[in-house]
Amino acid sequence: MLVDSHCHLDRLDLSPYDGALEPVIENAREAGVERMLCVGTDLSRWATMMALIAPYESVSASAGVHPMSKEVATLDVEGLERAVADPRVVAVGETGLDYHYTPDTANAQRAAFRTHLELAARYRKPVIIHTRNAQEDTLALLRDPGHGGAGGVLHCFTESWEMARQALDLGYHISFSGIITFRNAASLREVVKQVPLDRMLVETDAPYLTPVPFRGRSNEPCYTRQVAECVADVKGLSYDEVAEATTRNFDQLFALR
Ligand SMILES: [Zn+2]
Ligand SMILES: [Zn+2]
Repeated sequence: MLVDSHCHLDRLDLSPYDGALEPVIENAREAGVERMLCVGTDLSRWATMMALIAPYESVSASAGVHPMSKEVATLDVEGLERAVADPRVVAVGETGLDYHYTPDTANAQRAAFRTHLELAARYRKPVIIHTRNAQEDTLALLRDPGHGGAGGVLHCFTESWEMARQALDLGYHISFSGIITFRNAASLREVVKQVPLDRMLVETDAPYLTPVPFRGRSNEPCYTRQVAECVADVKGLSYDEVAEATTRNFDQLFALR
């Protein structure tokens, strides 16, 4: 059994399923992906996301404002705290820094990231971190002693081994998405090789980043399987070893078992 540690079920195009989420959950189950973490990106979408996943015990939730969201500039800290405090919420994020797509809001992103880290420490919930082209600032904020404690994960990791190593030293996990299956991702597969299996998670980040060989289709949690198969291939392990380890890591990190 496998867990999709990061997906956005509220952003999937459900029109092929007449708007129902059930077939997505069923597709995942058939592929051996029995649980998933649905990650919040905007407070304006929060209530809708929570209503969508409410019927499914196999889906956990994370509350946060994405660094590329317009909401970082005028962060509703009270609204965020209310969402984080929800007993169904197992993590804080996604949060972090994206200087690749949205360098113009870097200051607001840093302030919002700090707020998420403080809430994570206060509520003892791990953080889900999005980081792109912002290695130094991300690590500096994670190193701040007032912010740590509950751990977390650098999701959809695409940065260098040097950054992964520093994040691992700080106690963070590393999650890989379908990007590792892309033909041009040879250097990222080298990072996969080096990250210890007991600190690794797998994810789809659906509906984005569909893995090979399903490029062109909309991504769904069922394709976590292709990510885990790729990790197994790169590390010379069996699929079952990767599935078991990443599921155990997920449960330990989010205190779900
Ligand atoms: Zn992200
Ligand atoms: Zn995401």
